[in-house]
Amino acid sequence: MIKVENVYKSFGRLEVLRGISTTIEKGEVVALIGPSGSGKSTLLRCMNLLETPTSGHVYVNGRDLASPGTNIMEVRQQIGMVFQHFHLFPHKTVMENMIYAPITVKKVSKPQATQKAMELLEKVGLREKVDVYPGKLSGGQKQRVAIARSLAMEPQIMLFDEPTSALDPEMVKEVLEVIKSLAHTGITMVIVTHEMGFAREVADRICFLDGGQLIEEASPKEFFTNPKSERTRQFLEKML
Ligand code: ADP
Ligand code: MG
Repeated sequence: MIKVENVYKSFGRLEVLRGISTTIEKGEVVALIGPSGSGKSTLLRCMNLLETPTSGHVYVNGRDLASPGTNIMEVRQQIGMVFQHFHLFPHKTVMENMIYAPITVKKVSKPQATQKAMELLEKVGLREKVDVYPGKLSGGQKQRVAIARSLAMEPQIMLFDEPTSALDPEMVKEVLEVIKSLAHTGITMVIVTHEMGFAREVADRICFLDGGQLIEEASPKEFFTNPKSERTRQFLEKML
């Protein structure tokens, strides 16, 4: 589904990604973890062309994102992204947020988009909030709307960049539960998170990034009980 091939990324003289390679299969749930500044967000952003690698390649569904022949808008439609800070449209109601992209980008009819939106809001437990503006929602509710809004585009891939980092502790769980409920739907997910318990429970694979390099990739069990690299061990000591 996603193939990252020897990706380097620099911002000016700062080399942020230093030769990352990995392959993510369809339906796989990958947790991307690592210290702050290790390049997690940058790597995630390279997967949907919010950033362009300085060198190397990212393939989505076999298509090279850097190739001039690739229709970027089409590829992006297959990829949903959820950020730390929700990014809802503040002047649109929850329903208007939900149906905007399906109608304008995917040309779905309004009744159809509305019906789909209701189903998704039901799924994330926010059906009663359809006519509310984001300003009236809690952080956890905003993030659940943001997730539902991404899903309304029916993406094959969901990228999450620290979806619970901006939330008060009591709201973390409700958002993680929603993400967890997606894990077995066949959607491919890459999740940057500092929630180690969640990563362990939900991910098929953990990727540990440090200093712009992929230091270790393993199943959660192996990663947390028997980390191979010294850097992984040091990181886990601080986190657990
Ligand atoms: P992480 O998500 O693991 O915390 P990031 O990928 O956000 O790490 O950032 C890695 C490094 O790249 C940091 O030093 C950050 O300051 C730098 N960086 C990220 N984006 C930019 C940018 N657009 N311009 C300049 N430097 C950036
Ligand atoms: Mg980040």
